[in-house]
Amino acid sequence: IIMKETPHVALMPSPGMGHIIPMVELAKKLIQQNNLKLTLIIPGSGLNPNEEKPFIESLPNEINLVLLPNTNSDTSINTEPVLSIFKTVERSLPSLRNLIKSLVATTNLVALIVDFFGTTAFDIADEFNISQYMFFASNAMLLSLYLHLPELDSTVPGKYQDLPRPVQLRGCIPLRGEDLPTSFQNRESGTYKCFVEQSKRYRMASGILVNTFSDIEGGTIKALEKGKNVPTVYPVGPMVRQSTGQTEEMKTAKSFKWLDDQPEGSVLFVCFGSMGLLSKSQINELAFGLELSGKRFVWVIRGGGLDSLPEGFAERTKDRGFLEFDWAPQAEILKHKSTGGFVTHCGWNSVQESILSSVPMIAWPLYAEQRMNAALLSEHLKIAVRPGVRSAGGLVGRIEIANCVNNVMEGEQGKKLRERTRALKVAGEKAVAVGGHSDKSLAEFVKILKLK
Ligand code: UDP
Repeated sequence: IIMKETPHVALMPSPGMGHIIPMVELAKKLIQQNNLKLTLIIPGSGLNPNEEKPFIESLPNEINLVLLPNTNSDTSINTEPVLSIFKTVERSLPSLRNLIKSLVATTNLVALIVDFFGTTAFDIADEFNISQYMFFASNAMLLSLYLHLPELDSTVPGKYQDLPRPVQLRGCIPLRGEDLPTSFQNRESGTYKCFVEQSKRYRMASGILVNTFSDIEGGTIKALEKGKNVPTVYPVGPMVRQSTGQTEEMKTAKSFKWLDDQPEGSVLFVCFGSMGLLSKSQINELAFGLELSGKRFVWVIRGGGLDSLPEGFAERTKDRGFLEFDWAPQAEILKHKSTGGFVTHCGWNSVQESILSSVPMIAWPLYAEQRMNAALLSEHLKIAVRPGVRSAGGLVGRIEIANCVNNVMEGEQGKKLRERTRALKVAGEKAVAVGGHSDKSLAEFVKILKLK
C-alpha cells in the first residue's frame, strides 16, 4: 500500500487585516481539527508594518506563509477601495499560478480556499485539478444575496433603492432595497459590476464555508442547502479572533482599568469598527445623546481628537465616560463584566464578538452589508435596537440616541434584549464545541479534503 502524503491546503485571503484575520482563524481551526499541512498566501499589496507584519510574524508554526510580490500600482484605490481589492488579487494571479504549480509538484496539495474577493483564482485550481473552496467571512444571508445577484441584476430594472417591495430570498428576512449593500446603491459603479461578475463564479466552488451558525440563521442555511446548483454550504461559526488573554493592546488601553471600577453591566461601549467614520455633526449629536442618557460609556473616536467633540463634553462626562482615540481592544472590552451595551456599525466580526459576550446592541450601520445585518439583529433576532434617522440631513438625533441607550441598558426591553443575546451566546458556544453543529460541519469538510 502506498501511504498518501499528508493533505496540504492553500488558503488565500485578500489583502487587509479584516480579511487576513478570519482566514487565519479558519487555518487555526483546521489545524485543531486534524493532521493537515497549510500554506497561507497573502497577495501583494505590501504588508502594513504596524498591524499586519507583527500579526503575520506571530502565526503558529504549522502555517507556512508565502507573500506574493507587491503588485500595487493602482490609482483607483481612493475612488473605489473595494474594487482595488479585487484588482490586487487579479494582478497576483500569475505569481499565484507559479506557487500552486510548485506546491503541486512538492506536496499533496488537495485544495485552494479563497475569500470572497478571490474567486478569479478558481481557474488556477481547475488547471491543476485541485478542489476550490470559498470561505465567506460574513453571514449566510449575504451569501444567499450574492448567489442570487446575477438573477437580480438581470431582472430588477432601475435602482434597488426604488424597489416597491423588499427582496425576498428563500429562508432570509425580507431585504429592503435601501438596506442592500453599499455597492448595490450605484449599479453603474465598477465595484457593483465586479460583484456581479464575481458572484457568477460562486457556483464554481466545490463548497462554501460560512462564518455563521444555525441558531441565528437556520432558515437561510437550510434554504441554501436545498438550493439548486448551490455548492455545499458549511456553516462553521461563530468564529472570532481568539484572545490571547493579557494582550499588549489590553495592557496599554486605559479604558480597561477604568472598566474594572464600574458596576457590572453599567457601561455602554461605542465603536464603529476599523474604518467607520461619523460626520462632525453626527459626532456632535452622539455626544449630546450620550450625555442626555446619563449612562456610563467607553467611546472609541476615530479620525479626530478631542476637537471633534462638543465643547466641554469631555469635562462634563469625565466621571462616567471614557474616551479612547482610534483603537481599543474591542473583543476584550465587550467581554468585560462592566460592559452592558454596544453601539456598533454591525460589521459581522463585531456582531459575533458582541453575541459571544452576551452584550445587546444598538445597530448603527455605516457601509458594506451592515444595513442588512442591522435588520437581522433588530427585526429578526431582536438582540439590538436600531435608531431611526430623524432629521432631513440623515442624522440620528440626540433624543433618539438617548432613548435607544436607555432602552438597551435598562428596563423591560433591555432585560429581554439581554436574555435573548445570552441565549445566543450559549448556542454559539455550543455550535463550535466538540460535537456542535458548526464543529461537525467543519469536520465534514476536513473529511472530504482527506479523501482527495
Ligand atoms: N476592532 C478593535 N478595536 C477597534 C475597532 C475594531 O479591536 O477600535 C476589531 C473588532 O473587534 C473586530 C474588527 O476590528 O474584530 C472589526 O471587524 P468588523 O467585521 O466588525 O468590521 P470592519 O472593521 O471590518 O468593518
